Amino acid sequence: MRLIDSHCHLNYEGLAERQDEVLATARARGVAGFLNISTRQSEWNDVISVAERNDDVWATVGVHPHEADAHPDLGSAALVDAAAHPRVIAIGECGLDYYYDKSDRAAQREGFDAHIQAARESGLPLVVHTREAESDTAEMLEAAAKEGGVTGVLHCFTGSADLARKGLDLGFYVSLSGIVTFKNARDLQDTAKWLPADQMLVETDSPFLAPVPNRGKTCEPAFVADTAAFVAELRGEDLETLAETTTANFFRLFPKAAE
Ligand SMILES: [Zn+2]
Ligand SMILES: [Zn+2]
Repeated sequence: MRLIDSHCHLNYEGLAERQDEVLATARARGVAGFLNISTRQSEWNDVISVAERNDDVWATVGVHPHEADAHPDLGSAALVDAAAHPRVIAIGECGLDYYYDKSDRAAQREGFDAHIQAARESGLPLVVHTREAESDTAEMLEAAAKEGGVTGVLHCFTGSADLARKGLDLGFYVSLSGIVTFKNARDLQDTAKWLPADQMLVETDSPFLAPVPNRGKTCEPAFVADTAAFVAELRGEDLETLAETTTANFFRLFPKAAE
């Protein structure tokens, strides 16, 4: 079996101290690839260096919406420059988070816009984070898609079926994290049942959000196997099939990973 953790934070506390061990444990469970996600400009070099050291790790460059206030001058040029590195395969994570509101909403939209431009200029897909910001997210993605040259994934999806449909229609993929295994995630479980097999990814968002049966532990990439098993069962598929499909999807969405 070959799975990909399409979204993890290997440089965050909880994983950074035991990175090699964490990667080895995941590989032993069939995880064949890891997308190491940036959230701040100051961590881009460290995030990329993990990908330089490991053939099965790739990196993104981006600024999380929580960090928008701390990056008032982030333009697309800095992102495009950093994205030229051969191990950087996507732009993000970026987007809008009106649940925590850790940064000014206008600053979040401005930052998101810089990422959208960078995705278009670099030809790399976006890794989109969106929480409690559905109408603005949909509006910005629709505008981006209309202008053309932008694709990506709605990561750690927790939104409505309506947002999922809008994203899928625009050609975006939807990624399921451990949240789908939570007891109270019934709406998300319904969405997971009908997501088109060829536009679906799985992820951990580790070190956060450990899936059942690992609740209470530090989440790590190995646990993507638990989420995948849960989703396969929900959909009435076998795990092997789901693993192969989501892995193929990953390389289709992020073709630079296959280079
Ligand atoms: Zn996120
Ligand atoms: Zn994340």
